Amino acid sequence: MELLDSIEVIKNIGKTRADQLKKMGIETVEDLIEYYPRNYEDRTESVSIKEVEKGEVNTIKARVIVKPEGRKVRNMTIISVRVEDKSGGIDCIWFNQPYIKNQLILGQEYSFTGKVVEKFGRLQMESPDYEIIKEGSLNTGRIVPLYTVPKKMSQKVIRGCIKEAIDQTEFAFEEYLPSWIVKKHNLCSRDFAVRNIHFPENDYNFFKARKRLVFDELFILQMHLLELKGNVCGKKSNVKILEYDDGEIKSILGFKLTDAQERVLNEVKADFKNGYVMNRLIQGDVGSGKTAIAMICSYLAVKNGYQVVLMAPTDVLANQHFKGFSEVFEKLNIHCQLLTSGLKKKEKERAYEEIKSGNAQIVIGTHALIQEKVEYSNLGLVITDEQHRFGVRQREMLSEKGENPHTLVMTATPIPRTLALILYGDLDISIIDQLPPGRQKVNTYAVDRSHYPRLYKFIKNEVEKGRQIYIICPMIEENDKLELKDVLSYTEDLNRNIFPSLRVECVHGKMKNAQKQEIMESFAKGEIDVLVSTTVIEVGINVPNASFMLIENAERFGLSALHQLRGRVGRGSEKSYCVLISDAKSKVAKQRLGIMCKTNDGFVISEKDLEIRGPGDFFGTRQHGLPEMKIANLYKDIEILKEVQQTAISLYQKDKDMKKTENILLKEKIYDIFNTKIKKICL
Ligand code: ADP
Ligand code: MG
Repeated sequence: MELLDSIEVIKNIGKTRADQLKKMGIETVEDLIEYYPRNYEDRTESVSIKEVEKGEVNTIKARVIVKPEGRKVRNMTIISVRVEDKSGGIDCIWFNQPYIKNQLILGQEYSFTGKVVEKFGRLQMESPDYEIIKEGSLNTGRIVPLYTVPKKMSQKVIRGCIKEAIDQTEFAFEEYLPSWIVKKHNLCSRDFAVRNIHFPENDYNFFKARKRLVFDELFILQMHLLELKGNVCGKKSNVKILEYDDGEIKSILGFKLTDAQERVLNEVKADFKNGYVMNRLIQGDVGSGKTAIAMICSYLAVKNGYQVVLMAPTDVLANQHFKGFSEVFEKLNIHCQLLTSGLKKKEKERAYEEIKSGNAQIVIGTHALIQEKVEYSNLGLVITDEQHRFGVRQREMLSEKGENPHTLVMTATPIPRTLALILYGDLDISIIDQLPPGRQKVNTYAVDRSHYPRLYKFIKNEVEKGRQIYIICPMIEENDKLELKDVLSYTEDLNRNIFPSLRVECVHGKMKNAQKQEIMESFAKGEIDVLVSTTVIEVGINVPNASFMLIENAERFGLSALHQLRGRVGRGSEKSYCVLISDAKSKVAKQRLGIMCKTNDGFVISEKDLEIRGPGDFFGTRQHGLPEMKIANLYKDIEILKEVQQTAISLYQKDKDMKKTENILLKEKIYDIFNTKIKKICL
């Protein structure tokens, strides 16, 4: 058997099972072996029947003392059999596995592992795994792996298949790490690792195997990121943005930068003059003042004779930035130009001309900015806002519009620091970890639906005081299957029955851009009291007069989404509130909403979220473009991650292009993983 053979070479895998496995991305013998257990059960110790623990998984060694029986209950076939050891007897039962009746032999001793429950005063073991007791059992009497299995495939089957694959491919897993790394980190061989991760004989072997596999997974990712970074960093740039007195713009902004802003600004200034292309990420909580930094950087670029372009993910945001920038830069006699797909044809044509001629010194817009038609004039600085909405490629396309311009990326999605290093491996990172003075905490409460009457009264009061309200729903339209609040019918209900005297409007993602724009503007002008919306308002909207946010079905949102949403209030001088409505009873849901009530710090929230949900969830591949981890746990494996990062950097420094013989296999492996298995990595 070869690693690259199709899984159908395995005895127990025919067409049906092969298809089931293929749906899970398992096509070759190698894929199957690299399909690691999601958990383990220690079945090394068995107990006597008298000693079984109710409600727990137990392993017993017992003899079948009556012929197994089958009966039908409604649509279910139930097989039951009485088994005994010296201490007593117990019933074992299975649901919908009629074949078991003919497999169990009267008088034979087996080892059974399963959950013991009490039914009608009798103990029974439910759907136990069983096996004749012998050396080398797979399913009992040992540490047993548990897999995420396709529907209709049992643990026993997949275990057997993996065992066969392992046995038939002895020593097939080549070592690809250079030997100094293996030695330095005291790693076991790769071959040992892939085998022992499935059927470890003891804890020691398991930990050895796991460490090796986690190390590999993180190491390969890290090397790939260094490569990405190497491609963009260390590139010479002719764009030199030299020190220029920024007192003028600072005085127009009208506030003193926080220490954190000042520090970040200095980091950017240092990048500007060092002769290399800057690729810097500015991470900062909502309201920490990233935009102000972007303005000062733009000012410096313009004063050095360069054009600046700022790309935002939505029309609404681009318009808002355009307004904010125009206000500041008009006073400095610097010309800003808007370019979005929402512009009329004539306006667009004019915009292209302004941009090409260099008349437009700061260009602000959406994806429209990267279209082929747009030609820039001496582009020196590219800024993207809220970067998790863009991919590396889009960023690159914008940069390619100039000759190695500097890049500044701003994001308000807080990510634990160590993880930011992985996710944004191709960027240098600056963090604004301080809010401007005088910011009030947004008081946050999690309540259930019984609070509506009080909440609605409170909202009315706030509006009477001249404040404005956001109400967020998880859905746009009604859906019979899900009992969730939706924007359309809720707006109607609010208008008709709940707040007939208030001005209630809605905005959502299915609306035309122009319409969204209009409503947002009218909300900003104070012509709307209550704005009902989906998360379209999540990104960067700034209406300081809005002081109250109600989030319906709050359990449906990720914590960072909730945090972003909440950042829309508390932007003015008024005390602001955020109420999370949820009827969810689960402990995790309660814990998560509880965190929102306790803290306003986005970094703390993201750490906690990661802790509760685990990184699998946290790093939805879709959201962050990070490949799904097969075994590493980005939260718990931080120590290994640190080892990995140091080693990856020193390898990279020694042999950047990985040309040395000892690095060739590793290079191939990295290439293999990132160019074939993981089709796209967009950071
Ligand atoms: P972000 O883009 O990080 O969400 P903004 O740059 O939009 O934050 O800043 C939010 C608000 O705070 C804006 O109204 C801005 O004018 C103001 N602001 C920014 N920096 C300061 C500061 N150092 N002192 C006072 N106000 C500030
Ligand atoms: Mg912002």
